[in-house]
Amino acid sequence: MTRWWEVEPVRFQCEKGCTTCCTKPGWVYFDKEDVKNAATFSDLSPGEFKKRYQLEPMDSDHWEMEVTENAPCPFLGTEGCTIHPVKPKQCRAFPFWEENLRTRKAWQKTGEHCPGIGEGPAWSPDLVRQNKDSIWP
Ligand code: SF4
Ligand code: SF4
Repeated sequence: MTRWWEVEPVRFQCEKGCTTCCTKPGWVYFDKEDVKNAATFSDLSPGEFKKRYQLEPMDSDHWEMEVTENAPCPFLGTEGCTIHPVKPKQCRAFPFWEENLRTRKAWQKTGEHCPGIGEGPAWSPDLVRQNKDSIWP
């Protein structure tokens, strides 16, 4: 089945200085590689990292960290993501998440809180798919 984003232009360019997507309540997901990279970057062992940031196991290879209005992502600093070079794939792939790409309407709705949607150059279907599929390898 052809997806709408394979035939219509999908414009997106992250807005400098914006951190809105990091402040929305929800879950940040980490796979094994995300934990390893973020732990090394933070000078911690994977075990210490999971304990310190209260990552809850989902299965043997995936963890989740809850973000609420009262408890924002602990990696969000005044200048943006403090683990930016190694941030989890889920964060890197935003806004190209399946839930946002499901329909054109869902994409436009995501644009209500993501000012980068509709801006910048059009992304090729291959790049959109690559980002979308990078979340759960
Ligand atoms: S890890 Fe970084 S990019 Fe992901 S939600 Fe937290 S601050 Fe934002
Ligand atoms: S909400 Fe959109 S524009 Fe803002 S930081 Fe997130 S991806 Fe970038």
